[in-house]
Amino acid sequence: MTDKTILITGASRGIGAACALLAAARGYRVCINYRTDRDAALGVVRAIEEAGGSAFAVQADVAREDEVLRLFGEVDAHGGRLDALVNNAGILARQMRVEQMDAARIERIFATNVTGSFLCAREAVRRMSTRHGGSGGAIVNVSSRAAVLGAAGEYVDYAASKAALDVLTIGLAKEVAQEGIRVNGVRPGLIDTEMHASGGEPGRIERLKSSVPMGRGGEAEEVARAVLWLLSDEASYTTGSFIDCSGGR
Ligand code: NAD
Repeated sequence: MTDKTILITGASRGIGAACALLAAARGYRVCINYRTDRDAALGVVRAIEEAGGSAFAVQADVAREDEVLRLFGEVDAHGGRLDALVNNAGILARQMRVEQMDAARIERIFATNVTGSFLCAREAVRRMSTRHGGSGGAIVNVSSRAAVLGAAGEYVDYAASKAALDVLTIGLAKEVAQEGIRVNGVRPGLIDTEMHASGGEPGRIERLKSSVPMGRGGEAEEVARAVLWLLSDEASYTTGSFIDCSGGR
């Protein structure tokens, strides 16, 4: 065990939960942020504790500044410094063409995927930066291959939000590079999580999977391994970079 603490947003299920389990196995004490699914979050905490690790859960909607401040306050209250942040919380909306998208939908997507990640990164920098007396740290933003591919006809708003997150990753990485903080991103492709469990025309997921060069969807654990590598000292000279976990898509 190390005395390192990691905060993972939206970690009650899917890629976030996989990151939490792997981080705990690598010795981090894990803060599991969740928005609504308390039972699932406590289930992840229990799984970590049963495996001999250490974790706690904190409810907060990352799209709300007051809740982000409370979230980081609770991390502080648990003692120890914050070493790593994974901005994983993200939302997707029903597939539709641009003519059907209203402002409320677009704002909702940007509020979580961009503003939420931005606010959490800000709070992390306030704690990690050597400029503010911190000891450094690492941030990974969970983007999407859609940021590069565009998601035409499906959710160009979501793709645009992830592209904004990528630019935040690059700019922030440069801004804090000399303050002991590395900032990187992962771009998952089609990963088997509940994000894709509902919606879409029949056979859509199978059609998408067949367009993946590796011929299959990915597992959440395959993304988690890339995230944990970027956070580790193995990636000590890597910042402002992205790993695509997309089977070649
Ligand atoms: P998921 O829906 O299973 O998990 C997302 C989690 O984020 C959920 O637990 C949800 O409650 C939480 N969340 C959403 N809004 C939140 C908010 N405002 N505050 C706090 N928590 C919030 O989906 P997933 O596939 O595990 O997605 C994780 C990340 O990976 C997302 O950022 C997603 O955009 C990205 N991603 C997923 C895929 C994929 O194919 N599954 C592909 C590319 C990128």
